[in-house]
Amino acid sequence: MRITRIPVLPVLAAMVAVTAAAASTPAGFAAELMAAARSSIQAEDAKRHISALADDALEGREGGSRGGRAAGSYVVSHLEKLGLEPAGDNGSYYQQFGGMRNILALARGSDPSVANELIVVGAHYDHVGYGNSENSYGPFGFVHNGADDNASGVAGLIEVAEAMQHLPNRPRRPILFAFWDGEEKGLLGSYHFVRVRPAMLAPMSVVFSVNLDMIGRLRGERLEIFGARTSEGLRTAVVRSNNRQGAVPLELVFDWAIEEDSDHYPFIAAKIPTVMFHTGLHDQYHRPGDDVQLINFDGIEPVARLTLDFVTALANEPGSPRSFRPQARSESDATKKALEAQAQSEPSVATASQPGTATGQTTDGQAPITAAQRPRWGIGTRADAGEPTNPVVVRITAGSPAAQAGLALGDRIAAIDGTDILSQADMVARLAAAGNRVAVDVDRKGRMFRLEMTAIQTNAAETPPLK
Ligand SMILES: [Zn+2]
Repeated sequence: MRITRIPVLPVLAAMVAVTAAAASTPAGFAAELMAAARSSIQAEDAKRHISALADDALEGREGGSRGGRAAGSYVVSHLEKLGLEPAGDNGSYYQQFGGMRNILALARGSDPSVANELIVVGAHYDHVGYGNSENSYGPFGFVHNGADDNASGVAGLIEVAEAMQHLPNRPRRPILFAFWDGEEKGLLGSYHFVRVRPAMLAPMSVVFSVNLDMIGRLRGERLEIFGARTSEGLRTAVVRSNNRQGAVPLELVFDWAIEEDSDHYPFIAAKIPTVMFHTGLHDQYHRPGDDVQLINFDGIEPVARLTLDFVTALANEPGSPRSFRPQARSESDATKKALEAQAQSEPSVATASQPGTATGQTTDGQAPITAAQRPRWGIGTRADAGEPTNPVVVRITAGSPAAQAGLALGDRIAAIDGTDILSQADMVARLAAAGNRVAVDVDRKGRMFRLEMTAIQTNAAETPPLK
């Protein structure tokens, strides 16, 4: 590892020197330490891991093959270096099944009251070996190195595990780093783990899981996220991590489809809230051409850092574990399209009468317009049962303050004047009560923007020119 426990200190000292004010408070100091932990996630390290795992010598890491076993040894050697506790069978890192091996390492939490609420962060380390008609788009008989699928996820996960060891405060809940085997043979390792728990993990229940599968081809800063509907408010949680202080946020594409195509699925089938990060398919997917030279190593950094922040936040969440949202399994991208579709109706028709209580109802985002001087923002939103604190903008009245402020269809309203909204009804009430100026924080494709809206005087004599 480029940064180990000891060399973190000089890095930290340098940061404290330039930001002495921030570091003078405990909170600021913790933030600096967090930044140091985050910066231990390095593209160069990811490159080293992927180059080792996607080397021809490992023959495509097929589950149960000698190359697969060598890949497992590589992962274990890094877990040992990090001092993570083995969580497999009989004090080892390995959980054996059907000639294959999951690799499990535990970081215990700091809060005994949630010691059995396990968060699993996983990535499969197997691939398809030489490829055959069942698992490859060909040509067959050549080593399929699987640099993106999924040496990239393994590299990201090793880096996240390392950074976790540098955190200033251990997260409250325990975190299991899981390297799945046999994914390409039918999600065998993750299914096995969901069914059979090594003895040392037996008292724990999995309350959340995160899956990294193919994170090595970040293009246009665009990250795909699956499963964010499996618990209410998850999108908000991911977006918050994405927009954490000091980060350059990625564009997030939330895909509502849930398919049995990666290790997130066995967890979702077991009713455990789960998200998967993925940088998208490509022409080399399950072909011999999925090689190291096509990996965007720099792109792994922001994805792994987002994972670090998100997992830490989940592990520290107050209250009882998040509940599973079963509706997620019947939703699809068609459901998403319907929710986000532009509303055609005029504000006065759809909205004012029933300001935003029922799910899926279009509202104007404001009270009925009766008085001529009442601010009129021109926003129509639809409530989202999966994301109740972020109604989606489905109509913008032409020439309105919302239009002038640059609000866009599909934006999610998150806060009014700096305070998070609680529901669509809350948003409506807050917009109605606002003065002539209001700041609206929106989540636009996972990036947060603050838009300032200024009310237009509706009395014609006083109407300022529109710009
Ligand atoms: Zn694959």
